Amino acid sequence: MKTISEIRADFPILNRTIHNRPLIYFDNGATSQTPTSVIEAIVHYYTYQNANIHRGVHTLSQEATDAYEQARQKLQRHFNAHKSSEIIFTAGTTYGINLVANGYAALMKEGDELIISASEHHSNIVPWQLACERSGATLKVIPMNEQGIWDMQVYSKLLNERTRVVCVQHVSNALGNIHPIAEIIAQAHRVGAVVLVDGAQAAPHLQPDVQALDVDFYAVSAHKMYGPTGVGVLYGKEELLLQLPPYQGGGEMIKQVQFEKSTYADLPYKFEAGTPNICGGIAFGAAIDYIHSLGIEAIADHEHQLLAYAIEKLQTIEGIILYGNPDLTQRTAVISFNLQGVHPYDVGVILDQLGIAVRTGHHCAQPIMDFYQIPGTVRVSFAVYNTFEEIDTFVAALKKAQRMLS
Ligand code: PMP
Repeated sequence: MKTISEIRADFPILNRTIHNRPLIYFDNGATSQTPTSVIEAIVHYYTYQNANIHRGVHTLSQEATDAYEQARQKLQRHFNAHKSSEIIFTAGTTYGINLVANGYAALMKEGDELIISASEHHSNIVPWQLACERSGATLKVIPMNEQGIWDMQVYSKLLNERTRVVCVQHVSNALGNIHPIAEIIAQAHRVGAVVLVDGAQAAPHLQPDVQALDVDFYAVSAHKMYGPTGVGVLYGKEELLLQLPPYQGGGEMIKQVQFEKSTYADLPYKFEAGTPNICGGIAFGAAIDYIHSLGIEAIADHEHQLLAYAIEKLQTIEGIILYGNPDLTQRTAVISFNLQGVHPYDVGVILDQLGIAVRTGHHCAQPIMDFYQIPGTVRVSFAVYNTFEEIDTFVAALKKAQRMLS
């Protein structure tokens, strides 16, 4: 494993100053920063390889196609999919979930049921509400307790022969809780339901093995995994992807087009209409290489040390309210908190003045905020390049903000 200074040197943006102070970037849950190797992959693509893929006989098109398909294979190996055709390139997690929700909207009927959880991101709520509106299916919700832990007994009771899809997050973006998705999946399969897991927050820190989990669909975004924005991957089991109708129509996703009827391309192209984000896919592959060059376990280990250190420091602040599972082994490096009597937005503004980027608000998880009856939280989320010294600076800045605001 590289030293922390070597890792930091891989991320040029960390040399920036914000309001004349060194940037402390604690908003990795929203998007992670990009290492030079990924930036170079993007520059290399546009400098030497830019061409449209899959349809060209010319060399450049073939080179771009090879690079794009190699990236798909890297992602297949990373997530341990059985076949590379089960890896669909998407625009991100949101797109992947909408693709599946749109498909089930067509396959479900009145009386069918869907299950989500109380801590979902809006992108794993709204697509299913739309699917329910279109199909007449009913949405059920696994409740959570004060610590954001799901009530698995209620989940068992919600499952029945009418349950078609269970759509849950692997890790909560608002709280950092790692959820028991292996158990969720096993129970859903017993009643014949399929499971989509929103892996946006898990994939940067854990390495989900889709076959070991026996998950049916798993959606991720590259930009939370040291890759670029606007690209992601949806893993789907072949037999289920074959059953789903296409999401978007257009070029690339067809076998034959006639005015009476068109037939669709084989997997994965059936779900990849139009010219894809070719450069993004290749750069996602480079981000996966970067993660493997450090080792995902080493990344997770460093982040856990940061998490434990930060929680210990934060607990010494009077009037702090910490959310999420207190068992830190069941958490990724996300900390959501509030200071008593202080609006989270105000904390965020002062921290920004001190060069510290945190996220404030509802984190696209309004039902969680409604549960706690709060307008939002302050959220810090760590990545592999964050340091203990940055946490010290942040905690001192937070105390300053508290003095200024109360
Ligand atoms: N689900 C979770 C848990 C997330 O944290 C996010 C991103 N904040 C998303 C889904 C949506 O990801 P994207 O905006 O990249 O599509």
